[in-house]
Amino acid sequence: MRNFFRAIGLQSCVINSAKRGHMNIPRLRIAFLLILVLPAVLLCQTAMVKPALPVGGGADTKEVPKLEHFDPHVVDKTLDPCNSFYKYTCNKWLTSNPIPPDQVFWGTGSGLELWNENLLRETLDAASTNDPNRNAVNKKIGDYWAACMDESGIEAAGLKPLQPELDRIAALKSKKDLTLEIVHLHHLYPGVWQQGDNQTNAPFFGFTGQQDYDDASKVVAQIDQGGLSLPNRDYYLKTDEKSAEILKKYRAHLQKMFALSREPEAQAAADAGTVIELETAMAKTQMDNIKRRDPKNINNKMSLVQVRELTPSIDWDAYLKAVKAPASDHYIVTSPDFFRAEEKLLQEHPLEHWKTYLRWQVIHKSAPYMNKAVVDENFDFFAHTLAGAEQQQPRWRRCVRVADRDLGDALGQAYVDRAFPPDSKARTIQMVHAIEKALTEDVQSLSWMSSATKEQAITKLKGIEDKIGYPSDWRDYSNVNVTRTSYLNNVAHASSFEFERWVAKIGKPVDRTEWTMTPPTINAYYDPQLNTINFPAGILQPPYFDPAKDDAVNFGAIGMIIGHEIIHGFDDQGRKFDAHGNLRDWWTAEDGKQYDERGKCISDEYTQEVPDAGAGVKQNGLLTQGEDTADNGGIHLALNALEASLKEQGKSLDDEGPDGWTYRQRFFLSNAYSWCTNVRPEIARMIVTTDPHSLPIFRIDNVMSNMPEFQQAFGCKAGQKMVRANACRVW
Ligand SMILES: [Zn+2]
Repeated sequence: MRNFFRAIGLQSCVINSAKRGHMNIPRLRIAFLLILVLPAVLLCQTAMVKPALPVGGGADTKEVPKLEHFDPHVVDKTLDPCNSFYKYTCNKWLTSNPIPPDQVFWGTGSGLELWNENLLRETLDAASTNDPNRNAVNKKIGDYWAACMDESGIEAAGLKPLQPELDRIAALKSKKDLTLEIVHLHHLYPGVWQQGDNQTNAPFFGFTGQQDYDDASKVVAQIDQGGLSLPNRDYYLKTDEKSAEILKKYRAHLQKMFALSREPEAQAAADAGTVIELETAMAKTQMDNIKRRDPKNINNKMSLVQVRELTPSIDWDAYLKAVKAPASDHYIVTSPDFFRAEEKLLQEHPLEHWKTYLRWQVIHKSAPYMNKAVVDENFDFFAHTLAGAEQQQPRWRRCVRVADRDLGDALGQAYVDRAFPPDSKARTIQMVHAIEKALTEDVQSLSWMSSATKEQAITKLKGIEDKIGYPSDWRDYSNVNVTRTSYLNNVAHASSFEFERWVAKIGKPVDRTEWTMTPPTINAYYDPQLNTINFPAGILQPPYFDPAKDDAVNFGAIGMIIGHEIIHGFDDQGRKFDAHGNLRDWWTAEDGKQYDERGKCISDEYTQEVPDAGAGVKQNGLLTQGEDTADNGGIHLALNALEASLKEQGKSLDDEGPDGWTYRQRFFLSNAYSWCTNVRPEIARMIVTTDPHSLPIFRIDNVMSNMPEFQQAFGCKAGQKMVRANACRVW
């Protein structure tokens, strides 16, 4: 998968299908609430850990969860909309909807997440009866589900499923044997093909097939920095008090996990130190997530000869053969410095240290699928310490997510049949067209852009392919071996299948129909190399898209999200790719300069304190500039599209609509309402460090304080917080 895939950032646990750009915080999928794309890896771990007590909202019962519908009566009229519009809209909702103990955030989209998962659970339950007459798809998803839900079988097996892997590592005789063990682990656990915002979350490095930056019609091999277990390099390198405390707890966690794998205490303590030493050394040489945002920095083409010379301790010929990689025109090595340093580490450290690192990888990556003791300890560090969860999610939710990650298209067909009627698709397409038209008009009206660049921008906009709901072709999983008896093996088989599927793309024509999110996912993305916008059926539900509501409500919620994804084609990253997905500068020098000035206004504005994440925590606007630009531009497009739609009906934005609010007011209220979210400080801190999306409060208050159109709606005056003196506007 690719690195520059940009999403709306609603979710929690992206997994399988990647999303380029996020550690799969990173990658998204249906998990928690909407809103933030969290480090997927972590989130998913949060999600996958153990059985739990029932949570609020009937989460552990078969009761159908409640969907949130936009409700303007929820506003807190004791507050001033011109002070914080987010608080004005959300305060009452946030107060009456505290975060359940098994969640790290909870917002107006959380009910939808539960609702979607509940549908998937019903499908999985129905498919899981051990009936010889089941069709192939139901047998696959049903057996997968049965194995995951078989808690007593997993408990009875204890550590046994790990033993063959630990034995393999013990049998390694020399550092020459490491390459094939890396290949083996890259197959066993999901992640090696998913390049995140910070790194690829896989042992040693990431490897995948992806479109070439300079020629998007070609798929080439890409080799990415990886090897870390914490969310990114900052977690190893920062020395402030909180960071030091987390690192200390990580050391304790490593020690406990080694001890759980039956190492004597003294060895477990020493091994924890070895892992931290190796991972810290890798972290030091990783490219940071801000530099990584610029495609020019990672577009380092090498020949196979150069790759071999870069890291001779890795037997690349053996690696490529074992992962069945077709010949690649060239190899993109995202961060050569990282690989030079990894080579040095491989030479300097003895085989025993690498065996320790590999044992850790096996225990750590297997943890979510293991017995209770391992699952609990994994939860305690990755979900509780790092993200703030107080208790684990019910097992069924963890199993639904993993099934969606591993067999997403098989499960997605049933979801679409039940939850995404053709009317929803038709109305979404209408909105997408209206919003694309709004951007065409915006581009044409710009005073700072030359007609030459405008023409190119319009060409790119016209070239965007709109993908709504679900893929035209469903993936065939008949080669994934699934049994009712081994959850861990099922995950490994699905992971191998997916890894080889990505690698097999090398040298083949690009498949434009493919999606990197599953249909029930509550998220959306823009893909700059395919020039497509993608809205899974999972997000085309209330409170984002509500067939029962008027245009003002829908343009405010899903309309802003549609606008956001389209703007990604024209944010500071997306604007570097042309209509065909090639990394090519189509801007005149002067227009590029004008753009950068406007972009700097945004990144300066969002470089701000984040009190919700703890004292002294500061957002870096250079990390979030693309997402913030998309938030700001997206809402303008949605508002303009609403205005045009009302005009066709003989109405205007300032006419009174339902519930005593004008359409303009309803639009902004619906937008803010769809982002109301309680967020735990631990996950807030992680998002600020690793995620290119701003926190929900900023996605409302920063955006609207830049907008005279908002200030007009609520009568805000100069000097009030929602009227920014130095307002930014890119699109
Ligand atoms: Zn986005």
